[in-house]
Amino acid sequence: MAIATINPATGETLKTYEPLTDDAVDERIGRAVEAFRAYRLTSPQERAGWLRAAADVLDADADAVAELMVTEMGKTLASAKAEVGKCAKGLRYYAEHGPAMLEPRPADAGAVGAEDAYVVHQPIGVVLAVMPWNFPLWQAMRFAAPALMAGNVGLLKHASNVPQTALYIEELFRKAGFPADVFQTLLVGSSAVERVLRDDRVAAATLTGSAPAGQSVASIAGDVLKKTVLELGGSDPYIVMPSADLDRAAEVAVTARCQNNGQSCIAAKRFFVHRDVAEEFTRLFAEKLSALVVGDPMAEDTQVGPLATESGREDVEKYVADAVGKGATVVTGGERVDGPGWFYRPTLLTGVTPEMDLYAEEVFGPVAALWTVDSLEEAVEIANSHPYGLGSNLWSEDEQERSTFIRDVQAGMAFVNGMVTSYPELPFGGVKQSGYGRELTELGMYEFTNAKTVWIG
Ligand code: NDP
Repeated sequence: MAIATINPATGETLKTYEPLTDDAVDERIGRAVEAFRAYRLTSPQERAGWLRAAADVLDADADAVAELMVTEMGKTLASAKAEVGKCAKGLRYYAEHGPAMLEPRPADAGAVGAEDAYVVHQPIGVVLAVMPWNFPLWQAMRFAAPALMAGNVGLLKHASNVPQTALYIEELFRKAGFPADVFQTLLVGSSAVERVLRDDRVAAATLTGSAPAGQSVASIAGDVLKKTVLELGGSDPYIVMPSADLDRAAEVAVTARCQNNGQSCIAAKRFFVHRDVAEEFTRLFAEKLSALVVGDPMAEDTQVGPLATESGREDVEKYVADAVGKGATVVTGGERVDGPGWFYRPTLLTGVTPEMDLYAEEVFGPVAALWTVDSLEEAVEIANSHPYGLGSNLWSEDEQERSTFIRDVQAGMAFVNGMVTSYPELPFGGVKQSGYGRELTELGMYEFTNAKTVWIG
């Protein structure tokens, strides 16, 4: 894929970039190593100060960055502004809590025959972040804030369709006053990742993206024995039981499925509705989906913009055509919007069966698949049959159902009467093919630290 800004609302190529040469990448890695030598010795308080400054820079740049993201990947202006705000919040969260997270953790010295014993979390060095385009600022910030707080330095290989946002992120940390080269963007294609990962000077990697990209990075990292964190796809279940507030559940279902034009790993993608309320919920859901304003992502009142890439829309079309060909019913949507840009109408499909491709894969676009079930157990069983296990949602007022769901659903996150969302205050990550490791909270920070045991006799 060329490294370029192509406006998904028009299909127009606005800017292209030459990828860095191997020599230039080597030189950048060298600079990162140099930066780490001094940066690891800075105090958590100093790093917290730079993180706060970065949040202030983001606040000041908010409108321009939001517009840049809209231009590069088509999210709506309102959601782009919300993303910038969330990033500033994430930076401030680590500025506020990071120093305490990095305090040595005392152990029971007497029990181990020591005078003093503790655990100290130390940075590990240069960490490579391979990031996707769907939340171009937040995905990178979710890695960068805890990594920089811990004293690591970062190399960002961002998705090839968001180069200007990628360059802005490097500039952001520079403007915030971080020491030179602690965070660098490498404008390279995915084929350059292996070389960087195999470089002895690079300590670890994190990747957010598709399962094939994750498999590739994990196998190379396994070969050279480097730590990885993987946040891959999801096909989150959204279960609605008879006791739920149906109108609210349908309202949130629309946001949960169509947020970010349907391109979120934690979007609810499979809807399991109890037979007693299935007809009413389907009606409400379809009504609200078809009322969404689809159009120019820069317009303030637009709720759904285009898909980020032409091939992304083709994939969505293939999944829908395959499902319809095998007997699914289109309740609403099911087609592209005529004209320029890669728009696709919010879609609701019922009658989904295991033979359909979308049954066990991830549809990265505004397409909801709805199942009618006879019990919570049936919903959880079908939900768990999917290879992914990222987030999960239940709508129920019944205590017993809630605890059964929380106990049995195979997912990294279980949200009841709400939709899966990432917060700096809660760990984020999945199980099964959705990847491993956690982002956010102290768990996210500790992924890229050496938890060093200290024993002093
Ligand atoms: P990719 O996984 O292809 O891209 C994500 C990042 O990984 C990009 O920086 C990409 O670089 C890089 N990459 C791709 N292949 C490799 C590889 N073999 N080795 C190393 N790095 C690689 O996602 P796409 O954008 O192509 O989207 C495809 C699917 O991925 C979606 O349909 C969705 O299912 C899933 N996805 C999930 C996301 C999530 O948040 N979990 C986010 C985005 C996508 P480059 O852009 O240069 O190819």
